[in-house]
Amino acid sequence: MRVSCQLHVNQGDLEIVLPDILKELHSKYKSMQEGAVANYIPELAKVNPDLFSICIVTVDGQVYEVGDYEQLFTIQSISKVFAYGLALEDHGLDYVLTRVGVEPTGDAFNAIVLDEQSKRPYNPMVNAGAIATTSLIKGSGPTERLNRMLDMFRRYIGRDRDVFVDISAFTSERSTGHRNRAMAYLMLNFGMIDRNIEEALDLYFQQCAVIVNCQDLALMAATLANRGINPITKEQAVDSRYIKDILSVMYTCGMYNFAGEWAYKVGIPAKSGVCGGILAVVPHKMGIGVFSPRLDARGNSVRGVKVCEELSQQLGLHLFECSGQSRF
Ligand code: GLU
Repeated sequence: MRVSCQLHVNQGDLEIVLPDILKELHSKYKSMQEGAVANYIPELAKVNPDLFSICIVTVDGQVYEVGDYEQLFTIQSISKVFAYGLALEDHGLDYVLTRVGVEPTGDAFNAIVLDEQSKRPYNPMVNAGAIATTSLIKGSGPTERLNRMLDMFRRYIGRDRDVFVDISAFTSERSTGHRNRAMAYLMLNFGMIDRNIEEALDLYFQQCAVIVNCQDLALMAATLANRGINPITKEQAVDSRYIKDILSVMYTCGMYNFAGEWAYKVGIPAKSGVCGGILAVVPHKMGIGVFSPRLDARGNSVRGVKVCEELSQQLGLHLFECSGQSRF
């Protein structure tokens, strides 16, 4: 039982209760059919809408999972979190801030909108900001930039096998992603992107098409929760000095135009993607991954939001929880 505002997750209790909580949540929401899979990228429309998995990895490397947790899917927008980390490492916060702001938009993730005054995209979690962020990744050419990006994902995922781009998803988005192309040209016009636009877009589409599963999401989240150190491989995936920048922007901007309500109700930094994944971080405690492809009108996984709301309530995960009535 938690007795102060300082969240304290008792590891012993977690081991006992988490497997049952995850099973209960999975069976409770399995029958939920609301929402629809994303179809504006033709490849995404092919996914089985019934897939459903939940996974938690604690900062000491314990893994709890239920459902289709090994099912592979493309990471989509969740990649924006990690590309932001790499851009911060490449250039430092001050420079990145000259190219991408940190203000929530309240608009859809694919809104073609820049800050009136500064001409910057609003934040790195919406498409415009993510494309600008990705254009900052250093490398001598497209191959080196892609390899640096894949290496970065490998550090978070910590698999002994390689991290791959799904070529069908990549080409599907490259041939249909004209809205993203329009944003990129607008930013070129205002000097927010200075590299070859098609190259920057290719890298962005490739990062969105990186293949992961639900376990990977939870482990990546746990790495952010653990000061950037992968709790299983112990590798430093991202410089710990940037964790607060990454988590802050996830907290305020990570859940599309539901970010405010999410912060209010669930209260932890998170990022969702049109693949149906949600990655949520409980700092110093655990990472959560949920995958279920049916999306609500804002682009968030319907079951994923429900599961995270309940997990936050049951475990007392809200960062500002002070009631002392949580289980931990
Ligand atoms: N690749 C997708 C796009 O740029 C990602 C969107 C998302 O997951 O929010 O539209």
